[in-house]
Amino acid sequence: MLPTHDASTADLPAPPDLAAAAAAAGAAADALAKNEDRLQALARYAILDTPMEPAFDELAVIAGHVCGAAVALVSFVDRERQWFKAVVGDMPPETPLDQSVCRHALLQPGVFVVPDLAQDPRFASMRIVTQAHPLRFYAGAPLVTPDGYALGTLCVLDHQPRDLGERERQMLAALGRQVVRLLELGRANERQGQMLVELDEARRQMSVLAHTDALTGLANRRSFTERLRQELALLQRGGEPACLLMMDIDHFKRVNDVHGHHAGDQALQLFAGLCRDVFRAADVVSRWGGEEFLALLPATRLEQAQAVAQRIHAALALQPVPGVEPPLLLTVSMGLAAFDPLRPLDLTLRTLDAALYTAKREGRNRTVLV
Ligand code: GH3
Ligand code: MG
Ligand code: MG
Repeated sequence: MLPTHDASTADLPAPPDLAAAAAAAGAAADALAKNEDRLQALARYAILDTPMEPAFDELAVIAGHVCGAAVALVSFVDRERQWFKAVVGDMPPETPLDQSVCRHALLQPGVFVVPDLAQDPRFASMRIVTQAHPLRFYAGAPLVTPDGYALGTLCVLDHQPRDLGERERQMLAALGRQVVRLLELGRANERQGQMLVELDEARRQMSVLAHTDALTGLANRRSFTERLRQELALLQRGGEPACLLMMDIDHFKRVNDVHGHHAGDQALQLFAGLCRDVFRAADVVSRWGGEEFLALLPATRLEQAQAVAQRIHAALALQPVPGVEPPLLLTVSMGLAAFDPLRPLDLTLRTLDAALYTAKREGRNRTVLV
């Protein structure tokens, strides 16, 4: 601590050596306040400009009571200001850095006590000391993080010059450590919250992967079978009639054989994209097997489903497989059936297969109704 004046010399300018020492102390405090590592440590707690919280308020109230002081603050020293997370007594929510006693408290371990601010050239000209109802006494416990950064203080101020007993100092220091524990807890909660968000996202992605065909992005066979069972149950309870459309790309083996497996993949993606365009949002299209696709059209009559099938034939005739020369147009054969709630699912699927086979036999590039 710097030497202090006695009361009789309080109003006089500080002698040059004291003034120089005060300026040097201010410069040291400012340098620490602006230290980048310390500011980064402060930023990691994301505490600045957060709303007041009862847990911090209560620690400030207890500090004020324990020390019998008019003002108690949880103060964080930022680059250009000190900002108060908790305020007991008459203080603004923040003050500029040059008005901060707390920044000096960060320079030393343990509780920093200034018995009379007016008698100390470091603080005598500060607004809290020169204001109408001045504050004269300061005691602050630095808030030191587990990795050693002093972020601010738990401090008390009073209107009369005075001191703190040893027990009060110990209590103030202990309460300061509680403030740091609160900060740590907040950060742990934040991290946990973040981890839960990431976990949720990972679960969502896994669920999407588990239900989706990787090449086409369509529903895979497993998830589609589940959807079919749900639809069947709905129909059995008297839901609106639905249709099923089984689609198989014609001579697809030839695409692979002539143009390569990559072109085959492109063709499958083209077909999937086309399905996404042609079917309605309520319809569900799946990749049922290699070049075979199965679609459920809920609340759809057979004539409407036939129109959808025609649109697929027409769209395929217009879209060559990307990257294949000379231009290659796909055709598809389809079996179409009303989803009969009275039939077991596997029988319905076998009937659809038979209709598809008929379409192949009759020359392909057509839809056969069950
Ligand atoms: P059809 O008109 O009678 O349906 O004849 P097709 O050649 O389409 O039928 P076939 O069952 O003989 O051949 C299907 C081919 O689809 C064989 C297989 O290599 C190919 N295939 C299955 N899955 C994929 C895939 O993911 N990528 C590629 N490129 N080819 C696939
Ligand atoms: Mg085929
Ligand atoms: Mg096939």
